[in-house]
Amino acid sequence: MRARFLVALTFATLTLPAKADFAGCLAGIRSHAVGQGISGATFDKVMSGIEPDMKVIELMNNQPEFKTPVWDYLATLVDDQKVAEGRAMLSKHASTLTRIEQAYGVDRHAVVAVWGVESDFGQIGSGRYLPQALSTAACFGTRRREFFRGELIATLKIIQNGDLEPEKLRGSWAGAFGHTQFMPSTYLRLAVDFDGDGRRDLVDSIPDALASTANYLKKSGWITGASWGYEVRLPAGYSGPSGRTGKQGLESWSSRGITKVDGSALSPLPAAGLLLPAGANGPAFLVTKNFDAAYAYNAAESYALAISMLSDRLRGKPGVRGKWPTDDRGLSRAERKELQEKLIRRGYDVGKPDGAIGALTRAAIKDVEAKLGLPQTGRPGGKVFEALD
Ligand code: CA
Repeated sequence: MRARFLVALTFATLTLPAKADFAGCLAGIRSHAVGQGISGATFDKVMSGIEPDMKVIELMNNQPEFKTPVWDYLATLVDDQKVAEGRAMLSKHASTLTRIEQAYGVDRHAVVAVWGVESDFGQIGSGRYLPQALSTAACFGTRRREFFRGELIATLKIIQNGDLEPEKLRGSWAGAFGHTQFMPSTYLRLAVDFDGDGRRDLVDSIPDALASTANYLKKSGWITGASWGYEVRLPAGYSGPSGRTGKQGLESWSSRGITKVDGSALSPLPAAGLLLPAGANGPAFLVTKNFDAAYAYNAAESYALAISMLSDRLRGKPGVRGKWPTDDRGLSRAERKELQEKLIRRGYDVGKPDGAIGALTRAAIKDVEAKLGLPQTGRPGGKVFEALD
């Protein structure tokens, strides 16, 4: 029964809905949009001739099969290549970043780290046309239709304000776009014009994009001059409180025997929570409100940790020093590409070796793991990488 149901569901999501259904839905959105200040002319100019893109619904329904371990996540987002490119960007845009620090009080390394994690420093690509993707999600989405309708209306506002031409509005299926991957409603609230041309342009203006990121972090509670926190060491058998949001003064943490990761006394920091991303047997971090500001960007602690570690490495500090509770480390993007090349040499079809791990690569890893006598995980880890030598 379950299998039949899934087949039916897949079939339904891939079937193009009737033209009249889409037209009727758009008419409803149009009256909402007009009620929120979008002119009928703007709506008609942008939306006429648009057809639904049902791939959006497929992507919306495509839940990842398993949770990515935090060490895999960090290994790809904070790798040597990203650090080198980030340092080059820090120097190329030094004067803009100085002005941004003066205007917003947000540290340049954090701003550049967000840029690097969000779009690999502006590798935006073409992406989906937002009016099409968002109207599809608003009309045929399996959840949050009102949310996507709001994002579509925000997109129309961006166009109507003259910030961006419609053809520049390309991004993810869910609507994030530009150098810093803002959602349209976030764009309206927090994007700024920093190059002084009168338009907020997070697609083609790096000063606008970086200043908008700084503005976002500032509005999310960034404390000027403070650090996001640092890695710490727990005493053996630690069973005290933990969690990002349980902020306490440093004396409380030091009284529980917590030290810096090198064993030295805790150095000054605003109130901090004790983050244990992989439990008490993995690396531990004291995190301040500046960590929370990065968290606000994407509502994930592993994301905020990636931003924080990348910002540290951009400053020349080391990455995570504690051991993750695994004997199968994560791979950098370069290593993932190399893993794919190794699989190709073994005769597997993994598509183009680009370091992006899709279904073909996962299937090949599973197969080769069996041949090598390893547990079949399908995960691009250090064990299978090294066993293939
Ligand atoms: Ca501008």
